[in-house]
Amino acid sequence: MAFPATRPRRLRQNDKFRRLVRETNIAVDDLVWPLFAVPGHGIREEISSLPGNYHLSIDCLVDESKRARDLGIPAILLFGVPDPCDKDERASKAYCPNGLVQKAVRALKAHVPGLLVITDVCLCEYTPHAHCGILEKGYLMNDASLDVLAKTAVSHAEAGCDMVAPAAMLDGQIQTLRHSLDLHGYSNLPIMAYSAKYASKLYDPFFKEGTQSALAHGDKKTHQMSFANSDEAMREIALDVEEGADIIMVKPGLFYLDVVYRAKQEFQMPLAVYNVSGEFAMIDAAARMGRLDKCAVVFEALSCFKRAGADIIISYFAPMAAECLERGWKSF
Ligand SMILES: [Zn+2]
Repeated sequence: MAFPATRPRRLRQNDKFRRLVRETNIAVDDLVWPLFAVPGHGIREEISSLPGNYHLSIDCLVDESKRARDLGIPAILLFGVPDPCDKDERASKAYCPNGLVQKAVRALKAHVPGLLVITDVCLCEYTPHAHCGILEKGYLMNDASLDVLAKTAVSHAEAGCDMVAPAAMLDGQIQTLRHSLDLHGYSNLPIMAYSAKYASKLYDPFFKEGTQSALAHGDKKTHQMSFANSDEAMREIALDVEEGADIIMVKPGLFYLDVVYRAKQEFQMPLAVYNVSGEFAMIDAAARMGRLDKCAVVFEALSCFKRAGADIIISYFAPMAAECLERGWKSF
């Protein structure tokens, strides 16, 4: 039926109608906040490219995590930013029982009950060259790195984390981690797989300042995917699902909503999207210049992730969005 019988504007005439027919809502339940642990005590230093996000010594990480929990955010995603002298070619501090992340997890589980602690499992913060595993003649060695990643995941599980998130994009990493976790008695610990992770320059604020692990040389194009591809992403996700991933992820988010949509349509799995540091920086910088209404654009971005099919949104905007929701912020 066409105009004049059909008038789509009838259901947009006021916010009550718009609320009734709204297809997508953002709730605090959808959000995961990435947090960065550093060595030391009493440290809460703002990351200049990620305003509102901090380098936190474990005592301050506990406080920040309480804030997340009190805002209703269900989970944090924990990254370790170790001292440069704690980096070596074998990434041995990544799986050290008394490593930074392991100590942070224990503190969080002791002092912030009711908050899920997800740990990022990768080696780039723990190698001097900042590649995601063991290098040989400049090439990232897949299977040798898998062993170290598996040890790292098990050490996080032993510390008490609630879920591990392997991020290295190595072949077979989900199967290897699942097998090791099961072998050590952690068959109930879920895996959130960075399944479709692209080699993106949008990570630069994260690596340059967030984890201070910018690459010494080379790039990550032999393991992360080309932004030109989406069939390949479906193959990567299929492998992770087969290998035992509980949650799949697409990273980055905003330029990759077609991949998010395809992933949800093809796999019907719990799906996370990572709203990465470069996406945060673009919106934040434009808002600071007075060019964008930050809150409105953030909610537009978050809503579009959900419309595309994401169930979980990992975002540096998480506390801001949670505060807006708490104040009753409405986008309809
Ligand atoms: Zn990495």
